Amino acid sequence: MEKICVAVRVRPPAPENGASLWKVEDNRISLHKSLDTPITTASHAFDHVFDESSTNASVYELLTKDIIHAAVEGFNGTAFAYGQTSSGKTFTMTGSETDPGIIRRSVRDVFERIHMISDREFLIRVSYMEIYNEEINDLLAVENQRLQIHEHLERGVFVAGLKEEIVSDAEQILKLIDSGEVNRHFGETNMNVHSSRSHTIFRMVIESRGKDNSSSDAIRVSVLNLVDLAGSERIAKTGAGGVRLQEGKYINKSLMILGNVINKLSDSTKLRAHIPYRDSKLTRILQPALGGNAKTCIICTIAPEEHHIEESKGTLQFASRAKRITNCAQVNEILTDAALLKRQKLEIEELRMKLQGSHAEVLEQEILNLSNQMLKYELECERLKTQLEEEKRKQKEQENCIKEQQMKIENLNNFVTNSDFKRNQSEDFIISRKTPDGLCNVNDTSDVPGTPCFKSASRSFVVARSNNYSGLSDFSPMVHSLGDVADEDTWMKLNKGFVADLDQIQFTPAVKCQPTPSSIATTECPRENHSEVEDLKSRIQLLTNENDSLQVKFNEQVLLSNNLMQEMSELKQETLTVKEIPNRLSESVANCKDVYKDVIVTMKSLITDKESPTANLLLGTTEITTSLLATLETQFSMIMDGQKTGSSIDHPLSDHWETLRVNLKNTTTLLLSDAQAKDEFLNSHNKGQETAALEEKKLKSELIIIKERYNELEKELCLDKQLLEASRESHEKLIKEVQFLKEERDSLDRKISQSTQRLRVISSDKENALKDLNVEVKRRKDMEEEIKHISIAFATRHKSFVSFHSEIKSKMQKLTTQNSKAP
Ligand code: ADP
Ligand code: MG
Repeated sequence: MEKICVAVRVRPPAPENGASLWKVEDNRISLHKSLDTPITTASHAFDHVFDESSTNASVYELLTKDIIHAAVEGFNGTAFAYGQTSSGKTFTMTGSETDPGIIRRSVRDVFERIHMISDREFLIRVSYMEIYNEEINDLLAVENQRLQIHEHLERGVFVAGLKEEIVSDAEQILKLIDSGEVNRHFGETNMNVHSSRSHTIFRMVIESRGKDNSSSDAIRVSVLNLVDLAGSERIAKTGAGGVRLQEGKYINKSLMILGNVINKLSDSTKLRAHIPYRDSKLTRILQPALGGNAKTCIICTIAPEEHHIEESKGTLQFASRAKRITNCAQVNEILTDAALLKRQKLEIEELRMKLQGSHAEVLEQEILNLSNQMLKYELECERLKTQLEEEKRKQKEQENCIKEQQMKIENLNNFVTNSDFKRNQSEDFIISRKTPDGLCNVNDTSDVPGTPCFKSASRSFVVARSNNYSGLSDFSPMVHSLGDVADEDTWMKLNKGFVADLDQIQFTPAVKCQPTPSSIATTECPRENHSEVEDLKSRIQLLTNENDSLQVKFNEQVLLSNNLMQEMSELKQETLTVKEIPNRLSESVANCKDVYKDVIVTMKSLITDKESPTANLLLGTTEITTSLLATLETQFSMIMDGQKTGSSIDHPLSDHWETLRVNLKNTTTLLLSDAQAKDEFLNSHNKGQETAALEEKKLKSELIIIKERYNELEKELCLDKQLLEASRESHEKLIKEVQFLKEERDSLDRKISQSTQRLRVISSDKENALKDLNVEVKRRKDMEEEIKHISIAFATRHKSFVSFHSEIKSKMQKLTTQNSKAP
């Protein structure tokens, strides 16, 4: 990205107008009075500011030379002069003989540069145009007027029909420019006698390619625009009228649009949404130079005179805005043969080829090649056509195949449903049998052999049949059709006047009747019915068999159920017995308690001294045992209560028992040791006391009895505990067993109900099938009756026919005899 290069050039003032009011310092310009005092503090800075003493050479050197050199390298370049009339635009761009302007210098410089670049070959094309009253005219060819602007993908914006001269040196271009200048529109205004009334654009298209062909095929194409704009002054000031006024309006309009474009491009705050390039031809042509792919410089020329101050200020404003525009220039490389250079080379090569052989031969060869190619295309086209048709055919086949497969799948689905559920099958059978036509052919197994597919087969079959015999359900078809067949005339017609052999007719009447479709029906119908009846019979047999097997199964289930019930009642009895155990145990504990109380009472009566260790021991033991027995009682009652409520019981009895046992043991040991100590004491101090000895013996024996009793109790309790444990286990087992039996009973109940249901369904099926069978049998009988009637009718007809025949025969014989007699 680079900014547009903007410079200001101040024209030297006319001698009669005195000194310039514009003061130039380096690249700044400001307004000053003749006494060098600044009029305003405003000072404008630009890339370059050229004062009145500047030459075109310096302008070119500082401002445009780089752009021209870049154009030779392949960059687009534009230099244009902007300013009011007579401010020096044409002087800057065209120059004078002594000081040539930018165009001439550029042209010379381009060729100089080209000569300096040895590794590339160049092709230069030039064009020169003016935009006058918004019309593009060719300055190199006066006949090219009002040219149009076009846009091309490769070429970009271009003027259609504009003459482009290929040039080989600078002088050639300068001559062309001179000739073009003659065609320019000049007008006389107050401002400048030779004031240009149009914008002129001198354009150089520089194409180049590396001389070494193998390295790169890229062609660089750059466009260099050198523009001399028409004056930007206000119309009022020029004093123009008529044609001049009109010109001025156009000039001003296009310059105003240029100003707009520059304003929009310079306004960095706004997004570049829409730049009105298309509003004027000038901006359209300069589009790449303004905010596009080009290196651009603008020379803004100002007239230094006091009465031009306003215009000059306007020009400086324009210049300031233009300074803010950024362009993005890049080398234009073309890799296709769109570049003229390449195209020309190819053309030259072709021409050379043509020149080598005779013209006719080359043409013939070309025609031959073309016709060969045509033939190839045609063949290819034909091949593609047949391929397409083949594809289409294949697709159709595939579609048909898919349809068939789908139908098969449908039939199979029906088949599976029918065969999987026999019950359903029977229902389907019944439903199909109940269709109003009553003609379902159970033997029609065209789709799935072996098993009848009622749904699919019957439908088509029924339709076919009902079309032929619509009145069949009401009456036998034979009767209707017979009315026609039995008519003598029709009979004759049908036999086409053939006199049948009467014996044969009598012998095989059915065969003779066969050609009419009704007769086929009458002969085939009973056969069909017969097969249907047969089928129904076999079906009923099947159902009966199934019914029987189910009955057997049902009986087995009932037996099993009865057995289980018995087992369950036995188990219940056992449970009751088990439940009785804690009760009995409780009773035995109560008995124990009573016995124990008696023992204690007896023992207490034996003890005289209430404070003796024996008494103490007895008391302790009594307490422990009583507590133990009480615990046992409560435990048993708890178990019994639990049984009643059905809740599970913890069994802390054993634990409790264990602690009691330990306590009892400890007390006993303590008492024994105490007794022994006392014994020893008495032995050593009072051996002679007989009463004491007796008492002691008594006590000892008592103690032994208590001990024994205690041991017995302990054993009993142990046994009780074991018994309780066993009863608990068996109780749990029984509960589980009862649960299991309950479940089994439930499942059996379910099975029984299912079997009953099925049995019911089968019975109803059987009944329906029987009904159907009866209907069929009746129908068959009716049909047989009908056939009998028909046979009789036929026989009567036959008889009458025979008599008629014999009558005719006799008459004919009579006639023959009469005829033979007549002569
Ligand atoms: P414009 O093209 O802007 O209407 P011109 O280039 O025709 O103006 O200039 C008007 C006159 O001023 C011409 O006679 C031209 O020779 C003269 N002039 C312009 N600029 C200079 C300059 N820098 N040095 C000398 N004379 C100049
Ligand atoms: Mg001019």
